[in-house]
Amino acid sequence: MTLVNHQFRLAARPVGMVKRSDFNYVEEPARSPSEGEVLVKTLYLSLDPAMRGWMNEGKSYIPPVQIGEVMRAGGIGKVIESRHAGFGVGDFVQGGLGIQEYATVDGKTLAKVDPAVAPLPVFLGTLGMPGMTAYFGLLDIGKPQPGETVVVSGAAGAVGTVVGQIAKIKGCRVVGIAGGAAKCEYLTQTLGFDAAVDYKSEDVKKVLRQHCPKGIDVYFDNVGGEILDIALTQLARKARIVICGAISQYNSTEGVKGPSNYLSLLVNRASMTGMVVFDYADRYPEAGREMAGWIKSGKLKTREDIVTGIETFPETLLKLFRGENFGKLVLKVSDE
Ligand code: NAP
Repeated sequence: MTLVNHQFRLAARPVGMVKRSDFNYVEEPARSPSEGEVLVKTLYLSLDPAMRGWMNEGKSYIPPVQIGEVMRAGGIGKVIESRHAGFGVGDFVQGGLGIQEYATVDGKTLAKVDPAVAPLPVFLGTLGMPGMTAYFGLLDIGKPQPGETVVVSGAAGAVGTVVGQIAKIKGCRVVGIAGGAAKCEYLTQTLGFDAAVDYKSEDVKKVLRQHCPKGIDVYFDNVGGEILDIALTQLARKARIVICGAISQYNSTEGVKGPSNYLSLLVNRASMTGMVVFDYADRYPEAGREMAGWIKSGKLKTREDIVTGIETFPETLLKLFRGENFGKLVLKVSDE
């Protein structure tokens, strides 16, 4: 029986926010695997802010998605046919599946997922790429010490929630910056952050200063723009800034706005360092084991925002840029 594979292929390079017309929603038969390949039925897809950058022309940390290609996405699926010795029918796997219902991929690019460890969508969030980003960005670059003040922006999202909770585990004072009262309440009441700043309704500069009386030792930046510029004015001596992302800039049609308060790095003998999670790929198992332990012991809580239906992809992706996702944004494609 031929399997019909619905896919989103990039049709145009977006200008500003992504639109449905930037993609073609097409169908084609799923391809049978060749030697070494595996045919995977997609169950869940990870929707990430970085996807917006992958649609742009030009050099970045990975090549752009080409016009006509299936939109790149990480996902979790179930093996339905295998010609790779490492995988059997029924195995759950994760890898670069793309925005499509079936993916025929080189077995070397897949990893098995054990659903006994956590529900499958968690492997796209806390135990997946965003969790790894939080873990290595905070611990390797932020290097938080007990008693220090850690501030994280995009705090209620996939990366931010994990950053703040790990910082608490490490004995820090943690302040999150997020949009809206519900997200801020979640950070303090459910995740145990010491304080939260609602950047949509509060004076960030003033409230952040109240919550960080000794200054900021580690600023984990997910949003860039004005919030980064404000954080720069409140650094403690020898502060570390982790440049993880700059979502406020990803849809800009006027170019990226850089921080103007960077001389604070000089005054405070501080550092600002960019990080890309893929550089830590050989250490993911180590981080995964530790975080799975924290989840099991209740020290690390996970939250996923699951939207069903591959056909909703363009509009669901936009939730990230409108702040409408609450936790890791996951697109459910098929039942387990
Ligand atoms: P996320 O935080 O789950 O979702 C994005 C959130 O960003 C939204 O919910 C929204 O929350 C906030 N946001 C959107 N537009 C904003 C704006 N103009 N100003 C301030 N906040 C805005 O996404 P994520 O997957 O965890 O990613 C967070 C950041 O990490 C992104 O910048 C991403 O590119 C980066 N990242 C980097 C790496 C790496 O290797 N360097 C890896 C993964 C992710 P509010 O409701 O709070 O506004």
